[in-house]
Amino acid sequence: MTLENEQTLGQRPLAERLASVRAGISNAASEAGRDPNEITTIVVTKFHPVRLIEDLYDLGVRDVGENRHQEASAKATELAALPDLSWHFVGQLQSKKARQARQYASVVHSVDRPALVTALDNAGADMPPLPCFVQINLTEDEGRGGVQPSGLEALVEQVLGAAGLDLFGVMAVAPLGEDPRAAFARLRAYSERVVALTPTATRISAGMSHDYREAILEGATHLRIGTAITGNRPTDG
Ligand SMILES: *Cc1c(COP(=O)(O)O)cnc(C)c1O
Repeated sequence: MTLENEQTLGQRPLAERLASVRAGISNAASEAGRDPNEITTIVVTKFHPVRLIEDLYDLGVRDVGENRHQEASAKATELAALPDLSWHFVGQLQSKKARQARQYASVVHSVDRPALVTALDNAGADMPPLPCFVQINLTEDEGRGGVQPSGLEALVEQVLGAAGLDLFGVMAVAPLGEDPRAAFARLRAYSERVVALTPTATRISAGMSHDYREAILEGATHLRIGTAITGNRPTDG
């Protein structure tokens, strides 16, 4: 893509980008023989100002995603007047921030280790169970977020034993440099392993701006889409 094209894309109105992603989701869903209404689109708004979230809200968006606790917490506080807006936490979460994260997060997509399960569970004693996904690392790099597939069942059993958590399913990010369809096919197989342990945890959080079609073809129920809708991020774009 030329620089000029990229700039033009960045300036296209938000409504138009949102409509175009929604159309892309519908197309991928029909390609997969799936109902697009069973797919939740979370607009990832990290690095963007609350003004953009208000604009998205006016366009009908009710699910937004953030990946840093400080930023998510500040934005959720500022936008507390929009009670039907759901905040999805999709980034690495420190256990010591679990209590605060439970104050605003409707769903945590990135549960990836025993200490975080314990912290989120303990933080919600007086609250309804927190919907969450177990994040799986699809790379060989242990430094990436997510549990290694070899540890999946043990982590899932721990979540199932935590009364404060409600396991929705699995989450992953496709590795760079790999065909995303192949990566999401592995994720689908991991999802089947989880469903074998607990038949209700059928959801799959996968698919970003550049690979949501492949994710939908492999069964994703929750898409996490940033730049394709928001335009480039102010500080990392
Ligand atoms: C930023 C982010 C996304 C969205 O990425 P885009 O490429 O902008 O669509 C999705 N998932 C996670 C975990 C993210 O951090």
